[in-house]
Amino acid sequence: MGLDGDSNGDRRTRAAPLQVAIVGAGFGGVGAGVMLTRAGYREITLFERGNRVGGVWTHNTYPGAACDVPSHLYEFSFAPNPRWSRRYAPQAEIQEYLESVASRHGVLERVRTNTEVTDARWDDERGRWQLDTSAGAHECDVLVAACGQLSVPKIPRLDGIEQFAGPVFHTAEWRDDVELAGRRVAIIGTGCSAIQTGPAIAPIVAQLDIYQRSPGWTFPKMDFVYSERAKRAFERFPALQRLDRAANFAFHEFGALAMTREPRLLAPFRAIARRQIDKAISDPELRAKVTPDDEVGCKRVMLTDDWYPTLTRENVELITDPIAEVTPRGVRTSDGAERPADVIVFATGFKSHGFVAPMRITGAGARTLEHEWGARPRAYLGLSVPGFPNMFLLYGPNTNGGTGSVIETIEAGTKHVIAALRALERSGAREIAITRSAADAFDRQLRAALANTVWHTGCTSWYVDENGNDPNQWPWLWSTYRRRTARLDPGAYELAGVRNGGAQRAVAEDRAAVA
Ligand code: NAP
Repeated sequence: MGLDGDSNGDRRTRAAPLQVAIVGAGFGGVGAGVMLTRAGYREITLFERGNRVGGVWTHNTYPGAACDVPSHLYEFSFAPNPRWSRRYAPQAEIQEYLESVASRHGVLERVRTNTEVTDARWDDERGRWQLDTSAGAHECDVLVAACGQLSVPKIPRLDGIEQFAGPVFHTAEWRDDVELAGRRVAIIGTGCSAIQTGPAIAPIVAQLDIYQRSPGWTFPKMDFVYSERAKRAFERFPALQRLDRAANFAFHEFGALAMTREPRLLAPFRAIARRQIDKAISDPELRAKVTPDDEVGCKRVMLTDDWYPTLTRENVELITDPIAEVTPRGVRTSDGAERPADVIVFATGFKSHGFVAPMRITGAGARTLEHEWGARPRAYLGLSVPGFPNMFLLYGPNTNGGTGSVIETIEAGTKHVIAALRALERSGAREIAITRSAADAFDRQLRAALANTVWHTGCTSWYVDENGNDPNQWPWLWSTYRRRTARLDPGAYELAGVRNGGAQRAVAEDRAAVA
């Protein structure tokens, strides 16, 4: 399909094309950029604060970084790659894939790298977004925030950390210039990032101390290399790859069903997870330390084949006593023991509840998004916020799954954005916004469904904040997200203002629901 993208029946009827600004050039921004371009929206600018496209895949270069979603599901449906080297692609290959998609689909040239959007303000008079960026001002009709949920590292404040003599860094800010071979390394945290980094560096370091606050369940990854024959088969018969994608999707849907609606289906997952511990670890004390007492799926289930074997290595110790302080030469736990360390690595996750932070967004009537959200970010289908016209969030509040692929979420969300923009163009209106009643009704539904999910069975995770708010998770199936985002619910959105000509009527006089 050409970039004119009229395959979806799009006919641009307006004199002035809509100008779209996308904040973030990770999977969300690039995917939206390609899909919008293919739908005929050519006036697109992507702002990326990093120096290249890639998002989390540019930043997370720690040893062992790889995807834990199968590659055939963790790729755009419109850009299948038959040549993934293995079932779960490593970071560098995913980075290369995303850059290649951006380049082949004409998005790369629209990206302004090293440019951070600090402020976005809706201009009520002009019906446009005004952006302040680190490289100057920018104006647009439509704002798409594709900032991700896991882009801002979270580093706990540990007493004494500033007096530590050696290097200290987060997994998402890996320091290649720090030599780890033969040194004593402390990793803090035992989430998805730690279970990839630990096994990758354990063979080269002198000593690896892993500080665990609470364990998470793991599941065999069953990773394997794709043979040249398999890659050629995927190239020759694309249906094979689609079949593999569909099978993976179905498996993940089963996981979503278990986590959101049918807890009895968690039993086989629990049994497999327990077996993985028992098979790999014979020491009862270590077994007890790594066995969670919360429900499988409450924290994100981690896929790994080498985490437990790593913990049994001579040069690795799993420490479960809480950290009391960091000393100049190591880490002291609450039992008084001080373990020497040359390097400290924080594998402590991300500030996942900011969504657009640190960017400040101000909508209609000068109301800030921070004020609108209060203690709990929320958005209709994770995409639209009342009072914030012509603004969409991709992979926004409550669109993360305990299983599944974010790429699916991004594609479904972008289809919804395109449907909204088409409605806007057809109507000749200037603005489209979700109504407060539709957003509130959705939020009530969402809260009720979330209460019955595994994520609220009592554990700590990045899904739920300290007040019990859960702004990250989607409490239904992924096919439900696809279905619900596929069209605009009648009456859910309202149109206002007049675009391109005619006197600007007061917005209030010109409101009309999208039929
Ligand atoms: P995470 O899952 O939030 O894990 C953070 C870890 O740090 C937890 O073990 C946490 O313990 C611990 N921690 C936090 N503060 C601490 C403190 N003050 N003292 C001691 N320990 C502390 O973060 P993550 O491992 O970076 O993973 C985040 C998400 O990123 C994953 O769930 C996944 O969605 C994604 N990810 C994906 C991949 C992939 O393969 N595609 C790889 C990495 C990450 P508690 O559990 O007790 O809070």
